[in-house]
Amino acid sequence: MKFTQPRLPYAPDALAPVISATTIDFHYGKHEKAYIDTLNTLIENTPFSEMSLEEIICKSDGKLFNNASQAWNHIFYFFQFSPNGLKEPSGKLREQIESQFESVDAFKKKFEEAGATLFGSGWVWLSADDKGTLFITQGGNASNPMTQGLKPILTFDVWEHAYYLDYQNRRAEYLHSLWDIVDWDIVGIRYGE
Ligand code: MN
Repeated sequence: MKFTQPRLPYAPDALAPVISATTIDFHYGKHEKAYIDTLNTLIENTPFSEMSLEEIICKSDGKLFNNASQAWNHIFYFFQFSPNGLKEPSGKLREQIESQFESVDAFKKKFEEAGATLFGSGWVWLSADDKGTLFITQGGNASNPMTQGLKPILTFDVWEHAYYLDYQNRRAEYLHSLWDIVDWDIVGIRYGE
C-alpha cells in the first residue's frame, strides 16, 4: 500500500470534550482510514501510483479525486489540533489576520459563519496565495483550495460525521468549539512563519 494512515500525535481522548474519543474512533479510525484504503485500491497499477498525494488531487477527478482529497483533508484536519497548543495566532500570521479581518475574533466569526452556511457536506478553509494574502473559502464534498492554486493553512470539516456524535445538529456550536483545540503554532508554520 502506497499511502499509510499517519498516527495521531495525541491520545484518542486528548481533544475531549471538543472532539470526543468516540468521534475520533469513528472519524479518524473509520472514515479517514476508509478514504486512504480506497485511494490505495484505486491507484494500484495505474500511473497515479507514482504520484504524490497532492499531484493525484490536482490531476484526478470523480471517485479517485474524492478519495485522494478526502484522505489529504482529514490528515490535514487532525494534525492541526493539540490539547495544549498555542491558543492564539502569533507573528506574521496574526498581523495578516488583523490587517485583513480587523481582529482575530472578527476573523474567527467570519470563518465560523462560512462553515455554518455551507449547504450540505464540505469544508471551510483558510488559505494563502503566494503573496501571503489570506482567503476564507467554502468547499463542497471533498474540495480543496490547492486545486485553485492556494496554499491551505487551516480547515474545519463540516461533514455531519465530524460532529454529529458530539453535537448532533448543532454545527455552529461545533465550529465555535474547535478554536479551543486549534494549535496556532502548526497553522503559523503552514503559513510560513
Ligand atoms: Mn470528515
